[in-house]
Amino acid sequence: MNLPATMRALQMRGLNQLVLTTLPLPSLKTDEVLIRTMATTICTSDLHDIKTNPFGIKLPSVLGHEGAGIIVQCGSDVKTFSTGMRVAAHPVVPCGICEECRRGFGHLCLNMGHLGIDRNGTFAEYFVQRADRIRRLPDSISFPLGALLEPVANCLQAIARAGDIKGRVVLVVGDGPFGNIIARLAIRAGAARVLVSGREPFRLGMIPGAEIVDSGPVGSVDVAILAVSSSAAVHTCMASLRKRGRLVVFSLINEPVPINLFQLHVSELEIVGCCNDEERMDESLRCLEDPALKLSELVTQEVPFENWEEAFYLARDRHDKALKVAITFN
Ligand SMILES: [Zn+2]
Ligand SMILES: [Zn+2]
Repeated sequence: MNLPATMRALQMRGLNQLVLTTLPLPSLKTDEVLIRTMATTICTSDLHDIKTNPFGIKLPSVLGHEGAGIIVQCGSDVKTFSTGMRVAAHPVVPCGICEECRRGFGHLCLNMGHLGIDRNGTFAEYFVQRADRIRRLPDSISFPLGALLEPVANCLQAIARAGDIKGRVVLVVGDGPFGNIIARLAIRAGAARVLVSGREPFRLGMIPGAEIVDSGPVGSVDVAILAVSSSAAVHTCMASLRKRGRLVVFSLINEPVPINLFQLHVSELEIVGCCNDEERMDESLRCLEDPALKLSELVTQEVPFENWEEAFYLARDRHDKALKVAITFN
């Protein structure tokens, strides 16, 4: 296959500074594949990175970590993939040798690599990923839908961390893409009731089967899942839990939040964290294919790469009409 020497990419050069630029095509290690990007979706965390760079990404850097495309080149050690295959990537790259990786917690790797954080990501015409971190996409899954491989895997982790929710009452605080996916997965996992609170009527209207509740404590839920980065929402979750209830901290909270340990003690509450996912790519693929989940509804706009500014505007400022925005390439 004839590959170009350069590619167009969106490079972050400073806070609130994204620039369309031309970069050399990324080079490949022996266990990696080069993917021609067909779709990449904008994550809330990309928007945070652009605004405040909370992870201290070394700039300039190409952001983006939710991508799908076509393999155009394979490293010499790659046996299970070949050029022309349709694939989606998971951005997390565990080292495989640290203490946490050896314990089976690759998603909590101490030397974690991550597309769009410590290496160039998917907001470009091409990106590279280690072959064990990609999956083939069946033809029934479009590229924009395939780009949701990782966010859906992350949300499956939230369901797993919630424990056995069959027949239970689950509160999801947050109506963004993650809250939406988590609510759908909670229904799929057999929760008796799934309550969702949020701010945006358009987004709240996009979660079939969930009951919309006011923000603020609702009382007597078994599980509360924090899917918005707000300390007020932490209090809502805590105040909503029944005895022996569990809070799953899914969203990143960047500030210390006071917790009422008296309440935790007398109600035997649990608080668990949830970060990345424990190898849930295959389960995520099954969810993407599941007609009952209708996850393709999540991609509300597909915007050509040329119009990337519009894509970021929609994702950042138009919560009244956008949920997940995909940037597409041809
Ligand atoms: Zn993300
Ligand atoms: Zn590791």
